[in-house]
Amino acid sequence: MRLPPMLLVTLREDPAEAEIPSHKLLLRAGYIRRIASGVYAYLPLMWRVLQKVSQIVREEMNAAGAQECLLPQLQPAELWQESGRWETYTKAEGIMFALIDRQQREMGLGPTHEEVITAIARDMIRSYRQLPVNLYQIQTKFRDEIRPRFGLMRGREFIMKDAYSFDADEAGMKLTYQKMNQAYHNILRRSGLKFRAVDADSGAIGGSGSQEFMVLAEAGEDEILYTADGKYAANVEKAVSLPADAVPSPFTTAEKRETPGTDTIEKMCKFLQCSPTCVVKNVLYQAVYDNGMMVLVLVSIRGDQDVNEVKLQNELVKLAADYRATTVIALTVPDAAAQEKWAAKPLPLGYMAPDLADSYIKPPKPAPVEVKAAGGVVPKFLRLVDQTAVALQNFATGSDEAGYHVVGANWGQEFKLPDRVVDVRKATVGDRALHDASQTLQTARGIEIGHIFQLGTKYSQALGATYTNEQGEDRPLVMGCYGVGVSRLAQSAVEQAHDKDGIIWPVSIAPYHAIVVVPNVADAEQMQAAAQLYTELNQAGVETLLDDRNERAGVKFKDADLIGIPYRIVTGKSLKDGKVEVVNRATREMQELPLVYVVPTLQEWIAAAIAV
Ligand code: ATP
Ligand code: MG
Repeated sequence: MRLPPMLLVTLREDPAEAEIPSHKLLLRAGYIRRIASGVYAYLPLMWRVLQKVSQIVREEMNAAGAQECLLPQLQPAELWQESGRWETYTKAEGIMFALIDRQQREMGLGPTHEEVITAIARDMIRSYRQLPVNLYQIQTKFRDEIRPRFGLMRGREFIMKDAYSFDADEAGMKLTYQKMNQAYHNILRRSGLKFRAVDADSGAIGGSGSQEFMVLAEAGEDEILYTADGKYAANVEKAVSLPADAVPSPFTTAEKRETPGTDTIEKMCKFLQCSPTCVVKNVLYQAVYDNGMMVLVLVSIRGDQDVNEVKLQNELVKLAADYRATTVIALTVPDAAAQEKWAAKPLPLGYMAPDLADSYIKPPKPAPVEVKAAGGVVPKFLRLVDQTAVALQNFATGSDEAGYHVVGANWGQEFKLPDRVVDVRKATVGDRALHDASQTLQTARGIEIGHIFQLGTKYSQALGATYTNEQGEDRPLVMGCYGVGVSRLAQSAVEQAHDKDGIIWPVSIAPYHAIVVVPNVADAEQMQAAAQLYTELNQAGVETLLDDRNERAGVKFKDADLIGIPYRIVTGKSLKDGKVEVVNRATREMQELPLVYVVPTLQEWIAAAIAV
């Protein structure tokens, strides 16, 4: 492609709307344009990158035995009602764009495709002889994200490859999962990314496991915990570890002590001269279930530990049936305004005890039947105790009175141990690893590029997708699902590889391999050599741009650096000796090559760079 007619508009200044390097660079280099919040146009250079990523994904999916298809983005509400996800996806913090068509039918734009694919499997898969089946598509997804940001990293319209597998049993599904796991490793390696596969939260769906593929970068929204021996890596949401040993309690008798101005663990421990490992801290959450029911949750945990809200949410989902609900739609620490809505009197914040009285919650008002059905506040705290707090003896904790704590307390004596013992503690950097206590957890930031998931039968059961086994019995299909953020992957490559001058694309996903720059377009010899190289390179499969714009050489070099084409070929001074300069964008190495060597040398370099 020549510049022009290729549309290339670069900016010298950082656009104000962008915060992280990759977002700034993609805007500055003319790869993307923002059209609305979280909605971007992929301009010609970007589209080529996305096509390259898609092609790598496609090759690896095909090699893993998956078949490509294309599912509708416009989906009827009924399918989502069958799976029970319509309400959670369209109400409150739901991320599904929903609309009403001219026939007054509710529809949604696909944020994901479990419902559609399971409905297809229900209709088309009848017998074990058809299994396994694995289908994938590469397509635009729509999600009304609460905080769209960082350009393509978290868009409201983005490109995803999603695959869904159907097997006869758990063992078959695990085999498919392994193949997809390998395919995902291949995709990230071939895209030239530094990454780590980590254990991930599977939510409350259960299933036997899931892994996320994290591209390592400071700007990543996820925290990864891992051990140096390479044997453990997990998303912090899922990570497990050994907590530090508790220090023996200095308290010997149970008593209430005046502890003025100690409404944090730190202040309290300083005042009482004890370790936070001798403290039971009580943290209040407010959970809203999908039927509108609000539950106030009091979590008792050891003072030096924090609550992992993902683990807590999973515990609360397990209890959904107790509240005649199916899932939790919001989990927050109630602020003053939220407390006002349900608290009968001001809470003893900073001094709450594990037995905080239920009378702090306003009694339910006698309400008309229809209001009751829509939910309300459960007038009792749901009390949970984390494992770390269960073993404590002679501990210090709140007294339910501001300015006072209880010390030397024990479960079963001063306080009743909450019925429900849970593991909701957050693993943190420095913790000892479970598999080997001599290994400590280290931390890194990552961008989630892919997520593979052993789904099991959640959707096949909900939608009645069954097959007949060899014995003639009806069985639910056992599913897996596998997503890659194609557009997010492309931007992550920029986040990982750039310098002050611009993007440094991995060769395998660069929009073009090479760019021929003519420093002086008035020089006929330069123009002739450049045109010939451009033609020969493209004919030889080296995807090449030609920059023969009537601009200063410096401007053209700057643009070439900014857009990040791996090899720059300059028809400059050495042309009189029959040579051109070839510059490697990543290393900045410059080499003079005789004209006849340019094509074979570039072919060789590119083949070597892509064959990883
Ligand atoms: P996240 O935790 O980042 O919100 P997710 O868990 O909702 O992602 P999945 O439903 O597993 O994501 O989607 C599969 C992949 O799609 C993700 O691994 C990610 O790469 C990509 N993806 C998800 N949401 C977005 C988005 N809003 N913009 C761009 N890519 C996205
Ligand atoms: Mg995910």
